[in-house]
Amino acid sequence: PLDPASDAAIAASVTPLPIGEVAAKLAIPAEALYRYGPHKGKLSLDFIADLEDRPRGRLVLVTAINPTPAGEGKTTTTIGLGDALSRAGMKAAVCLREPSLGPVFGAKGGATGGGRAQIIPMQDINLHFTGDIHAITAAHNLLSALIDNHIHWGNALDLDARRIAWRRVMDLNDRALRQVTIGLGGPANGFPREDGFDITVASEVMAILCLADGLEDLEARLSRMVIGQTRGRRMVRAAELEGIGAMVALLRDAFQPNLVQTMEGTPAFVHGGPFANIAHGCNSVMATRSALALADVVVTEAGFGADLGAEKFLDIKCRQAGLAPSAAVVVATVRALKMHGGVPLKGLGAPDVAAVTRGCENLKRHVENLTKFGLPVAVALNHFTGDTPEEVAAVAEALAGLGVGVHVCRHWANGSSGAEDLARAVMELVERPSTFRFLYPEDMPLAQKIETVARQIYRAERVDFSSAATARLKEFEAAGFGALPVCMAKTQYSFTADPAARNAPTGHVLPVREVRLSAGAGFVVALAGDIMTMPGLPSVPAARDIFVMPDGFIAGLS
Ligand code: ADP
Ligand code: MG
Repeated sequence: PLDPASDAAIAASVTPLPIGEVAAKLAIPAEALYRYGPHKGKLSLDFIADLEDRPRGRLVLVTAINPTPAGEGKTTTTIGLGDALSRAGMKAAVCLREPSLGPVFGAKGGATGGGRAQIIPMQDINLHFTGDIHAITAAHNLLSALIDNHIHWGNALDLDARRIAWRRVMDLNDRALRQVTIGLGGPANGFPREDGFDITVASEVMAILCLADGLEDLEARLSRMVIGQTRGRRMVRAAELEGIGAMVALLRDAFQPNLVQTMEGTPAFVHGGPFANIAHGCNSVMATRSALALADVVVTEAGFGADLGAEKFLDIKCRQAGLAPSAAVVVATVRALKMHGGVPLKGLGAPDVAAVTRGCENLKRHVENLTKFGLPVAVALNHFTGDTPEEVAAVAEALAGLGVGVHVCRHWANGSSGAEDLARAVMELVERPSTFRFLYPEDMPLAQKIETVARQIYRAERVDFSSAATARLKEFEAAGFGALPVCMAKTQYSFTADPAARNAPTGHVLPVREVRLSAGAGFVVALAGDIMTMPGLPSVPAARDIFVMPDGFIAGLS
């Protein structure tokens, strides 16, 4: 039976507008919208090219404190704020990432918001949607097949099979595939070598699809990717395998931004879903730029806490795409602040004002960090039923000295009317003259860029580079990649590299053991700690509770 309080049931309680009507709210003409059924569409690339000279709306970033198992609600708040801005009469749109099947069937669930703040049709978006992620899987694995085929037919490039960095991908959590041996079974099956699988959203193809600003750029970036080395240690480009045209062909439709709607009919561009650890973690440049050309205000989300998600959104995506956000919203919950204040998950039911106040150190540091980018900030306190008035008041009190408004939000329970106060604050913030700036300049040496993020954002005392990392950074600079931004890969749970170090630690050392070049995406990844590129399923996966009802309704997604 269908639980009436479930996200799927709440989403199904509204009748979606035909997608043409959603498009009409942004004056998108019928011929520019490719329909995938009644409630999903894609924007044509010709139409997007024609938007180039339009004036741009204001961009608002939704980010958060360091996540805890207690949950924060960035996606939910992005949707609720978008709806509240529409309700206030603004021409608003939201920009979100596409859910990956890994978390849908794993621990986290889908990525379409919750309660009265959801994007719909939520079942479609959480499952295959318009097939974009499948297309990325195919394009990625086509290149993998071309690599092994090249070796099979004589290896003219002299690829060193032990130094092939291009792994295979699949969009599911499957830890058994992290390390595999391929090519077994004799000469007809190629040369045996070690390989492994990443989840599709961790593919550089995904990062590229999200950062490219047109088909030509997509092709150029795919061509530039480094897939491995020769036995003489020369970096081999993807273009040398001669399959880039076919990859672009597989990706052409996936490259078009998807249009859906919120439960209240606000247009939602849901496109691209790069991992927030190994990549930059926000939706596509194509979607964000299109939305900005069509709406007056665009609300978008970056993955993880502000130390990772916002920093990379600002220093990587905004830099590459020439975007300048007008404001940032930091989402916090009383529950998560209590956890930062030292309360274990099991103890969250009991009110604890002192723990909330202690945990506000985490929130305050993120707010301060965002002002380093010149962004005006509002705090969205995402209200949970069990929060007491005293705990809520403690948050406003703790932040009083920062000159930042704390807005209690009830969009999860009430939809747009629950986020009216936040919307009013945001409308005021985006009217301020922009003082947006990047954290570091392009021409700073790579190691110094990593140190700048570590000191300024994580408040680390110093960075401890492994000798291999130092050597590789020098190599990248010598090879002409010194001007790239850095993409930090660190645990999302802490300002430090230790996931157990909650709240606002100081005096820590950030260990950078490895660096990797994503030459196509256009960043250098710095790995601080163990980073998972193929997650596993938990002991009780969400897949256990998903089923199809006799009438075809898909239940159990959240
Ligand atoms: P994030 O984007 O930060 O990962 P989401 O917005 O996806 O977080 O929310 C995570 C989960 O928490 C979702 O299942 C959502 O329905 C739930 N949630 C969010 N806000 C609330 C709230 N105020 N009360 C109860 N549940 C909430
Ligand atoms: Mg989210």
